[in-house]
Amino acid sequence: MREPVLLTPGPLTTSLATKTAMLRDWGSWDTAFNQLSASVCSDLLAIADAGDSHVCVPLQGSGTFAVEAAIGTLLPRDGTLLVLVNGAYGERMARLTEVMGRRVVRLTFADHQAVCPRRLAAALAAHPECSHVGVIHCETSTGLLNPLEQIAGVVAAAGRALIIDSMSAFGALPVLARQVPFAALVSSANKCLEGVPGMAFVLAERQALLASAANSHSLALDLHDQYVYLQRSGQWRFTPPTHVLAGLRAALDQYLAAGGQPARLARYQANAARLRDGLRRLGLRSYLAEDVQAPIIFTVHAPPLPGYRFAALYQAVRARGFILYPGKLTSCETFRIGCIGALDGAEIDQALAALAAALDELGYLPAAEVAA
Ligand SMILES: *Cc1c(COP(=O)(O)O)cnc(C)c1O
Repeated sequence: MREPVLLTPGPLTTSLATKTAMLRDWGSWDTAFNQLSASVCSDLLAIADAGDSHVCVPLQGSGTFAVEAAIGTLLPRDGTLLVLVNGAYGERMARLTEVMGRRVVRLTFADHQAVCPRRLAAALAAHPECSHVGVIHCETSTGLLNPLEQIAGVVAAAGRALIIDSMSAFGALPVLARQVPFAALVSSANKCLEGVPGMAFVLAERQALLASAANSHSLALDLHDQYVYLQRSGQWRFTPPTHVLAGLRAALDQYLAAGGQPARLARYQANAARLRDGLRRLGLRSYLAEDVQAPIIFTVHAPPLPGYRFAALYQAVRARGFILYPGKLTSCETFRIGCIGALDGAEIDQALAALAAALDELGYLPAAEVAA
């Protein structure tokens, strides 16, 4: 049987070429593997046109490990991070900073509201102790897109440093270092670059990173140490995720051959438009207004019918070959559908047909007459 299509924001559906690139074993001391690391890092920097100003530091683990590493390395121990919170990942960034014993100021917005640059400017004026600002580019808990360029402008004008969690956006949504000044941008292999989980990376401003030698509270998450070691030896400190890196190399080859960031964004936008129209035809409502919706993942209100259970919908859609994602909001009952991964219009149409059939089977279809 065909493996299920993941409509989730990472792990996500990867191509056959990416999967087959992981069939070879690599020696972590081997020159060929060192070259693989160097080529991946240089391609990741090129996506942000950041090769002159920034360096790329790869890190073992999931995306959160790299967020923790970036903050723990770049934020001085007595520094304060202002975190822009409008969803679960913003809250996670604030929380992990507190857990490592650093001070945090939260600037909170509603889950359906983008960060307001004017409120940020006011908060920075009121909090001169905040040396750094943390922001989530695409808040994956809802699919909301924050206005990164304006936020970066406000942060730079106030003389502070910006740490961007662009986990679910980098590679698809444009981030050019010259237009969006940042001290660090964090992303991972298994989102818009369409690799598999197991490693993340930080694009860090070279000077800021080199000046951060003694900041880290952690040995394993010390990005400065990781960078210095990689520079000196060509190797990662500690066992690298060899197969994951080879998968990312293959995913990047496909990414570049297909036209890079503009092409990736265009495919995701087409997927998103198709999904949005299809959901509407099924009578389902999106949680976010269109002007803040990123073409990455949709949060959808549960059908307003008695007896609705996500687990039942999940199983019925799963039986038809597609994997949905649960909602992450506490204020209302929702589920999520991603439109990233090695998918295009054909898979989106099949997914919508599977969703319609599942809703119908469960008696959840609120507007069955329009589901043509
Ligand atoms: C996926 C994601 C992360 C990292 O989550 P992990 O489960 O650690 O990979 C962080 N921030 C955002 C916005 C994400 O989408």
